[in-house]
Amino acid sequence: MTNSILDIMQTYDHENVILCQEKGLGVRAIIAIHDTTLGPAAGGMRMLPYASEQDAIDDALRLARGMTYKAAVAGVNHGGGKCIVIGDPRHDKNEALFCLLGRFIERLGGHYITGEDVGTNAFDMDIIGRETRYVFALPSGEEVSDFTAIGVMQGIRASLQQVYGSADLQGCSVAVQGIGSVGGKLVKRLIEAGAVVSIADIDQAAVEQVARDFPEVSVLPPQEVHTHPVDVYCPCALGAILSSRTIPELQCKIVCGAANNQLADEQCSDLLMQQGIVYAPDFVVNAGGLIAYADSYTPEGFQRQRALTNVERIYHTLESIFALSGQQSIATAHAADLIAEQRIAAMRQAKSAMAGLSHIR
Ligand code: NAD
Repeated sequence: MTNSILDIMQTYDHENVILCQEKGLGVRAIIAIHDTTLGPAAGGMRMLPYASEQDAIDDALRLARGMTYKAAVAGVNHGGGKCIVIGDPRHDKNEALFCLLGRFIERLGGHYITGEDVGTNAFDMDIIGRETRYVFALPSGEEVSDFTAIGVMQGIRASLQQVYGSADLQGCSVAVQGIGSVGGKLVKRLIEAGAVVSIADIDQAAVEQVARDFPEVSVLPPQEVHTHPVDVYCPCALGAILSSRTIPELQCKIVCGAANNQLADEQCSDLLMQQGIVYAPDFVVNAGGLIAYADSYTPEGFQRQRALTNVERIYHTLESIFALSGQQSIATAHAADLIAEQRIAAMRQAKSAMAGLSHIR
């Protein structure tokens, strides 16, 4: 992007960008807040060795906006934010860095709440939590990827209902690309539900482990998994795997998985529709973790059953998205965006009306 930061913020309607630095520790971080209409901005802390400051800022702005849409469509009362820390998580992490980042976040007074993301983990969040209340954490024993996997299962069921008129997984073929935290849990759930599962991962040891645990699973070469003829192709590894090159090679009826940013560009959702493939938008399908985190942030604290009930609603959210996509002949990704935008616009109007009434007792 060549535009100035303020130009980009204006184009996409971001509220704030906060730059954080500390010379002695070499801290360089960006906190982007996109839209807080629905509530305080939520979004993970990503630590990567960005090639340039501009790349880091662009990523912060893009990811914060994505979080606004994800929260809105998930029915969560949060806006979108992101914290980007410029650094290599393998070498540049230390206690002082995360304490300081916690202090920066605390100073924002609750407008931004952080959590784990690429390059950061629960241990880092514990350190941040010493300096700020504004960090998502699930009770010990709960794993965020569990809730994400449960959400993906709901997404697959809703997509099967849309395509075959039945949400039953018995006998359905599913190819899972990436068997890490989410994909690994998903494989177990899919098998329990009676699906015929194939897997692919570049981590040979992980593949061997899953193949030992579930001998009924078949293993595919990682570079060919998307071309396998299946009912459901389930990307749970990288982003940008749906491109003008890969989409014509797909032999599935449904794409539904946890990976973030699956579409290489905006046209890809139209390409999928033209090819007759039902695409369950990634940010709808993978919101289970965010829903669980949001539950932990309520005044009464985390309530597992309530979190699960809300994660299971992903099924109905997808039903609405498929319905809107059909009514307006638009790609499912655009339909999901519209639903998110409508919720934000309605709540903005309601909040402004409530502010108008606040003097009346
Ligand atoms: P992870 O790092 O635990 O697992 C990713 C797996 O993908 C690893 O096993 C890795 O070896 C494999 N992989 C990498 N490149 C591959 C390739 N080219 N082909 C096949 N496999 C490959 O990550 P995760 O937490 O399971 O998340 C998976 C995806 O879901 C990511 O895109 C993540 O952003 C997204 N996501 C995760 C959560 C969550 O709760 N963890 C929530 C929302 C979205």
